[in-house]
Amino acid sequence: MSRSHDLFQAAQRHIPGGVNSPVRAFRGVGGDPVFFDSASGAYAIDADGKRYVDYVGSWGPMILGHAHPQVIAAVQERIQKGLSFGAPTELETTMADRVCELVPSMDMVRMVSSGTEATMSALRLARGYTGRDKVIKFEGCYHGHVDSLLVKAGSGALTLGEPSSPGVPAALAELTITLAYNDLEQVRETFAEIGNEIACIIVEAVAGNMNCIPPVPGFLEGLREICDQYGAVLIFDEVMTGFRVSRGGAQELFGVTPDLTALGKVIGGGMPVGAFGGKREIMSRISPLGPVYQAGTLSGNPIAMAAGLKTLELLSEPGFYERLSATTAKLLAGLQARADAAGIPFSTNQAGGMFGLFFTGEKVTNYAQATTCNQDQFKTFFHAMLERGVYLAPSAFEAGFVSMAHGETEIQATLDAAEQSFALIAR
Ligand code: PMP
Repeated sequence: MSRSHDLFQAAQRHIPGGVNSPVRAFRGVGGDPVFFDSASGAYAIDADGKRYVDYVGSWGPMILGHAHPQVIAAVQERIQKGLSFGAPTELETTMADRVCELVPSMDMVRMVSSGTEATMSALRLARGYTGRDKVIKFEGCYHGHVDSLLVKAGSGALTLGEPSSPGVPAALAELTITLAYNDLEQVRETFAEIGNEIACIIVEAVAGNMNCIPPVPGFLEGLREICDQYGAVLIFDEVMTGFRVSRGGAQELFGVTPDLTALGKVIGGGMPVGAFGGKREIMSRISPLGPVYQAGTLSGNPIAMAAGLKTLELLSEPGFYERLSATTAKLLAGLQARADAAGIPFSTNQAGGMFGLFFTGEKVTNYAQATTCNQDQFKTFFHAMLERGVYLAPSAFEAGFVSMAHGETEIQATLDAAEQSFALIAR
């Protein structure tokens, strides 16, 4: 038995399900989760010393590759000066200046400690700013475990929310309206009916939590138009796409400007960091400037800022995103060719350094399609790849991530493993 197996048994004694975040538990694919011990560049090394080409990258933050020497050095240097003050530091201003420079729509930004905090705070701010309570989200989009956003759709154009988790009060879930991603008509119809009650639309500008599904042309533009028409706040959840699909995020890639943006993952370079920001007029409503309360003991933590700032500095180098996208495109083209050769219906999606693999012959543009992909084939593929030293997200509904440390060698190793794995499915 592997050490991961023993560690998983031990973990379950005092940790619910043996994990501190559910998707780590391999529920979607079966088997024991891999326990990791260290990581470097494109590779993660498990508790048994086995090495994997890693396409999870801590679910997105590790865009430079693991343990980048300059990021580690920045953290080591900063750590000598103390871990936390709960008072302002110059680093926070540097971070705010840098983020507002990189993300086109941001006049002001506040740091928090996770993506969930970022979306939760953006939502409260949108409600406080508009004086309205209802929010629109899209089926299959995940925005962290915020009560108001843990709501899934039933069928129908205007589905009043039904909570996805016990513990979310029905009275709160009722304020969340869940519509189909990439279906602008549903949004138009909903606004035509109750537009003046809607505080905001929150959307993953490229959906990354139902596998990877980019917006169809006109979708984000349409959301912008509708929000302007009805005085609702447009929130882009760029926790995953920020500094990932391009330097300025999905808003730069698609040229659509939201009112508020939530950030996380890459902005902390692997440390617990999130942020939300946007138009000065809206951000000025946040405490202590305005009445909408939001706070955090460890917000803007200096060690986290040091890791994030060094990461943002390094991804600003010329050609960074061109290379990241080209590596990702090469990986996807190679996988497609091998699936085709094995006669397996397969398609892929890409946005910059983020990708999706689908066991279906169709191009996938919405949640309904994503759920009809062949789950059994995905499971077989996942385990075959794992055995061959490639670590993919342990769920068919998660995006994959490429880092700048992924080069020719890693892509070729992945494609060789994939050729054998597709052959196993075809048998
Ligand atoms: N928004 C999106 C789009 C996410 O992908 C995630 C996490 N995967 C979150 C919000 C929540 O971030 P965190 O897990 O840091 O709370």
